[in-house]
Amino acid sequence: MKTCPFCAEELQDAAATCTRCRRELTASGPSQPTASSPPFTQSIALVVALVLAAVILVLFLLAAPAAN
Ligand SMILES: [Zn+2]
Repeated sequence: MKTCPFCAEELQDAAATCTRCRRELTASGPSQPTASSPPFTQSIALVVALVLAAVILVLFLLAAPAAN
């Protein structure tokens, strides 16, 4: 048995909603991990890769002979 944190109603352990106040019982274990962090490192890697590609392209264009 567990008690509702809002109205102190005694509920079943598997109850997801209080039968008295109809509120959702969310404080029951680690249901959702903290996966709200954005892919910051992936964005940085993408920007670095793009800059490196641009630099390599500019160096290649500058080093290439203009004779065509
Ligand atoms: Zn309740």
